[in-house]
Amino acid sequence: MRKDKTNRCYLCGFRIPSIAFKKLGWNILQCKSCGVYNLDFAGEYQQFIRTYYDRGFFTGGSNRAGYLSYEGDRKAEDKNMANYLKGVRRFVQSGELLDVGCATGLFMLQAEKAGFTVTGLDVSEYATRIAKRRFTGKIKTESIENALYAPRSFSVITLFDVIEHLEDPRAVLVKLHGYLKKNGILVLNTGDADSLMAKIQGKDWHFFIPPQHFFYFSKKTLTTLLHQAGFRVLAIDRKGKWVTLRYLFHLARQIQQDALAKFGFKLVGGIAPGKIPIYINLFDNITVYAVKKNNRTQKRNT
Ligand SMILES: [Zn+2]
Repeated sequence: MRKDKTNRCYLCGFRIPSIAFKKLGWNILQCKSCGVYNLDFAGEYQQFIRTYYDRGFFTGGSNRAGYLSYEGDRKAEDKNMANYLKGVRRFVQSGELLDVGCATGLFMLQAEKAGFTVTGLDVSEYATRIAKRRFTGKIKTESIENALYAPRSFSVITLFDVIEHLEDPRAVLVKLHGYLKKNGILVLNTGDADSLMAKIQGKDWHFFIPPQHFFYFSKKTLTTLLHQAGFRVLAIDRKGKWVTLRYLFHLARQIQQDALAKFGFKLVGGIAPGKIPIYINLFDNITVYAVKKNNRTQKRNT
């Protein structure tokens, strides 16, 4: 967790967060005032993300609750990207698009096809090597904290499955605010820690994945964060995800260390039905559409 001198809550600055629970050896803190959860992380963040999102993260590495095979499960991922694009096009139909955390460029492929001029970045060397083959000269291998773009150069910026990975999400959103044109649109998604699924499952909720997820927002806390960074929320929806059966078992064996999940993975990991995309909506993931407010009055720790 990013701590200021007072150790107070990152989001509301009101209380000192307390330990909500421990998972996979990490403390997850929660602010009793605003409810936001975050990871108690004391390491060097830039160094951490450079090494964590390597090939293993995208290809089922043994100590990563990442993707089993991002490119191998492409059918499922393409359906997700189409679903994301449908959402984006509710608010903006063309123009310059920046995809933060573009991975191998699957969303960019569809956005470009739909008429957007696309640019992307990702901290993963593995993923951007593939993306660069697809988009010559349009991909940076860089963290969003370190990357630089010209002010007011994008009509829309997307962050799919990204905001929860950031150590200082407000600073990133403030930066993106500067990169957006007047009335530019920001689209992002993340888990909803206030969802019924999260409440039923408690610490076993599949989205509580330390150390890769630093923040666990809700509709309320994410709206607060966006407001602090100079955005106004236009709409929020709850999309499901296309996944493969083999990915589900992979995730379960990594997060729960569960024997049944390990057995299930053995069963379907190598066979064709394990790769068929399945649509699952647990209503525990929110996609937020926000517009750049032109006068940013950043409030924090008031
Ligand atoms: Zn708080």
